[in-house]
Amino acid sequence: MESVDVEGGCFCGKVRYRLSAPPIGSMVCHCQTCRRISGAPAVAWITVEERHFSFMTGEPARFSSSDPVERTFCPACGTPLTYRSASCPGEIDVATCTLDDPNQYPPTHHSWLSHNVSWVIFADGLPSYPESSTGSSAV
Ligand SMILES: [Zn+2]
Ligand SMILES: [Zn+2]
Repeated sequence: MESVDVEGGCFCGKVRYRLSAPPIGSMVCHCQTCRRISGAPAVAWITVEERHFSFMTGEPARFSSSDPVERTFCPACGTPLTYRSASCPGEIDVATCTLDDPNQYPPTHHSWLSHNVSWVIFADGLPSYPESSTGSSAV
């Protein structure tokens, strides 16, 4: 796999992370949990192999939004940073818009449209799924 050196972090800069390989997926999640943890209508995520992801500076706060899921955020400014589910071992999702350059990895689809807020309408023509693109998964 191509090796990259891509960085990102939270709004205040206290927590910084690094990717050493390109993501294996990129999507926009419309689920209720992502909405509540971010206060935003939808949240874009890239999926990275965990061995290619590392926090460089700062220690993120962690919480479990449902049984198999651990999410992290900056304890100082609150930016949501990562999502990890026991149902997808070896993978970690990183909030796309915390990348220093979110243009780098545009989404390929939308997930969890069954939870969508009625006025959230994307006209990007990308495929949309009522749940996750691979069937149901924990949020
Ligand atoms: Zn921060
Ligand atoms: Zn979600």
